[in-house]
Amino acid sequence: MARCVARVCAAVGFVVLSLSGGFARGYEHFQVAIYSRAYETREMNDVGWIEPRWAELTRQVHVDKIYLETHRDLILVSNETLNAAKKFFADRGVRTAGGITLTVNEWNRFETFCYTNPEHRQKVKEIVEHTARHFDEIILDDFYFTNCKCELCIRAKGDRSWTEYRLDLLARAARDLILDPAKAINPKVKMVIKYPNWYEHFQGLGFNLEVEPKIFDGLYTGTETRDPSGNQHLQQYLGYLIFRYFENLKPSGNGGGWVDTGGMMYLDRYAEQLWLTLFAKAPEITLFDIRQVQRPLPPSSNVAWRGQQTSFDFDEMMQPVQQADGTTKPTTIARAAGYTFEKVDEFLGKLGKPVGVKSYKPCHSTGEDFLHNYLGMCGIPMDLVPEFPAEEKMIFLTECAKFDADLVDKIKGQLLAGKSVMITSGLLRALQGKGIEDIAELRYTDRKAVVKEFAGWGSRPQAKAEMVIPQIQYLTNDAWEEISAMDETNGWPMLISAGYAKGTLYVLTIPESFTDLYNLPPAILSRIKDTLTRELPVRVDGPGLVSLFLYDNGTFIVESFLDEPVDVSVTVAKQATDLHDLVSDETLSPARNAGGPRMPPFGRRGPSAPRTTFALQIKPHSYRVFECR
Ligand SMILES: [Zn+2]
Repeated sequence: MARCVARVCAAVGFVVLSLSGGFARGYEHFQVAIYSRAYETREMNDVGWIEPRWAELTRQVHVDKIYLETHRDLILVSNETLNAAKKFFADRGVRTAGGITLTVNEWNRFETFCYTNPEHRQKVKEIVEHTARHFDEIILDDFYFTNCKCELCIRAKGDRSWTEYRLDLLARAARDLILDPAKAINPKVKMVIKYPNWYEHFQGLGFNLEVEPKIFDGLYTGTETRDPSGNQHLQQYLGYLIFRYFENLKPSGNGGGWVDTGGMMYLDRYAEQLWLTLFAKAPEITLFDIRQVQRPLPPSSNVAWRGQQTSFDFDEMMQPVQQADGTTKPTTIARAAGYTFEKVDEFLGKLGKPVGVKSYKPCHSTGEDFLHNYLGMCGIPMDLVPEFPAEEKMIFLTECAKFDADLVDKIKGQLLAGKSVMITSGLLRALQGKGIEDIAELRYTDRKAVVKEFAGWGSRPQAKAEMVIPQIQYLTNDAWEEISAMDETNGWPMLISAGYAKGTLYVLTIPESFTDLYNLPPAILSRIKDTLTRELPVRVDGPGLVSLFLYDNGTFIVESFLDEPVDVSVTVAKQATDLHDLVSDETLSPARNAGGPRMPPFGRRGPSAPRTTFALQIKPHSYRVFECR
């Protein structure tokens, strides 16, 4: 409790009330923006409507900027209202930018404009011109895609696939209807395209990651993942990975991450999405939207881990916030954001640049959809890149890499240079008959095995549940079974290695259901990490649903998505004296067997570099931030 009070005091230490009310000073390491849909922006010609709402909102969270949407669902906000809104926020020292949502009717299955239809095209151009008259920065919310299959589109598409037609149509419309008209009205306008979270399927709807990052002035990232078991199939780790991926698409051009309040089964889930966005080093975070975040806070939290001083501590969050004119009561969801931001801001500046295992995702590719995020949830730091990362000593490739017609040659190039490549069973299947057999004659069969037990040295690690895996066959003594899953008395490879020149190709078997990766025994996850993350300076060993976020300056974060406390070990690739917990200020000494090689005694050949291991516990749905000294 003493620590709890101390934390609240630390959080309010820098809070000073401004003349207009609310938090006067912002966060040191990121900016906070709020989004106002056209439905709310159109109310803002009435100061009596916006004034109390803004006052209440900014007592809960500091806001630096507001995106004032001018259009959504054919609602166009008038010049008069936009002028009144801009003045209201300018008077309060809040920056404004424009927002456009290109929907005809969001409620009709996200009905977008038809970019084949001349009337629709004219309308889009007018909306952009109207907005460019008011703002020097404009963001397109999620909907610059098209799902139109009207007769005009069907005829215009001809023999092309929908993907080909829409990619070409929207790349041209971006120039003709959005960028050129906006710059003609306001030459200094910064045009930003915000992408939603379903990156794996963009190309089918015309989001063009090959062209748009180059022609727009900036990108922005939907980092919301909501309920991971929901129909979008988005794992929590995606909130981090997608920001890094888009940053790699346009280095220094990814303006921020964006989180809404949808699909949260409990308040911790909302906070998790916010801090994962910031772990990715987003310079700005947008709260969607001014209406959603003003929903009342639930009177209590019913999560099983309440009262355990987890990273999102409901009871601590509900403490009154000290301000210059007294205290203010947490009232709305916005306070959950404010509380989360205050905590993360304390250590964010100490983190370096995020790093991870590089995995190549060619533009417009799909296959083993969103798989990288499942590995991220197992403690493997991932970094998605749009170009083949030939400089890496270890590259990870999933099925989506098959979209590069020269992929096998690129893999061979790595192996000939003495480097390693790990491909998934799904990519092996896709490359069969396309040259992969020239490296090793491995066969992805149609047969499956039901497995739960794994071969170990003196023990048989058990998965949490039975899982179905594809049976991969190889030629004895040409390839080696590094990890074996047991099916009765039969063993099937989970990880195969095959030499080629001085390099090694690895094939990782992916269970038929990706979430079974979370059920793998910790010892087996460690074996996979031993190979895949061996070039990284830190490794976390533990069960699935424990992630590692790694930075280039000796700092890292271990986060658990489990409902119970979890014991893990962290191994750093050097002789370290201690780990410093940047949140609690605690110092951890090396575990008893520190100093020597801690890696499993199989798999790798050659001497191990010095390593130091630390044992630690992570609370449910919590993170710990460390600096290695
Ligand atoms: Zn159409």
